[in-house]
Amino acid sequence: MHIAPVTLATVEPVPARRPLISYVLPVYNEQDGITAFHTELTAALASRPELDFELVYVNDGSADGSLALLKEFAEQDPRVRVVDFARNFGHQIAITAGLDIASGDAVIVMDTDLQDPPKVSLELVDAWREGAEIVHARRRSRQDTPFKKATAHLYYRLLRSSTEVDIPLDTGDFRLLDRKVADELRKYRERSRFVRGIVASMGYTQTEVAFDRDERFAGETKYPLRKMARLAVDGMTSFSTAPLKMITRLGFVVLALSLLGILYALGMKFFRPEITVSGWTMLMCVVLFLGGTQMLSLGVIGTYIGRIYSEAQGRPLYLVREVIGGDDDR
Ligand code: UDP
Ligand code: MG
Repeated sequence: MHIAPVTLATVEPVPARRPLISYVLPVYNEQDGITAFHTELTAALASRPELDFELVYVNDGSADGSLALLKEFAEQDPRVRVVDFARNFGHQIAITAGLDIASGDAVIVMDTDLQDPPKVSLELVDAWREGAEIVHARRRSRQDTPFKKATAHLYYRLLRSSTEVDIPLDTGDFRLLDRKVADELRKYRERSRFVRGIVASMGYTQTEVAFDRDERFAGETKYPLRKMARLAVDGMTSFSTAPLKMITRLGFVVLALSLLGILYALGMKFFRPEITVSGWTMLMCVVLFLGGTQMLSLGVIGTYIGRIYSEAQGRPLYLVREVIGGDDDR
């Protein structure tokens, strides 16, 4: 029997509209560098006429002239939208607000201090067009202080070993998310958030693009040690109850130690009565040791309870004064 070869008519696809790429750009007191950043970013975007772009600047309660500059960008360029926060809510929340409003087919989150080079963001777009749904920009090298490098190095490895999510090493918040990932991410409304961890835990097709992280173009880091430590704690407590389990282990160790002490004291009493175990020093050591471990444990438990408390309050994540630019019907 002869079977005629079937030829599938190739259907011409309907000419698709150009993909829209959104940038989410958190700004906190960046007046000295933001213009250079904006110029470099728009120059990079001009090299890709086949794409449409939208720039969502989130002014995170800057106390300097950043907002006035952002408003100027919005006046000059219809692609720019500015979300002005009522006060400083922090980097992670600023990113969240940007993601809430960005409407692109892909969304890129990046810093506005030129540490994340605008050109690299286009490499993220290329990886996305090849099929990746999440593209992490991985720091091949970075120009930070030795202290920051060392603590970041240690922290990422610790986090990876104590959590179940596979957080990629040496990545910050510079990454691209496909529309469907961004939509899903918007459903995560936790307050003390560690966006990079949430994204890593989501699955999807993830890839990396390596880049060399530059020095800050102007100004100081907006992550002093205090904020860095808070982010580190948020990252750990968002994904792991390992610190709570550590308390149990610590309890066992202390118990074992005190058992040894008791056995020693009893043994001396019965078999070597001539040696008296000195009371005061021993007591002081035990009391201080136990007091210390208990306070530490309470602190760890308190951190988790604090998270429960602030989640239970259910307050809005951020307050917006106004949104400037863009079409208002979105
Ligand atoms: N940022 C923010 N709110 C803050 C702190 C920082 O929006 O409370 C922004 C800041 O303007 C920058 C990005 O978050 O675009 C990263 O901050 P920074 O560069 O100071 O952090 P580092 O690169 O030193 O870790
Ligand atoms: Mg920076």
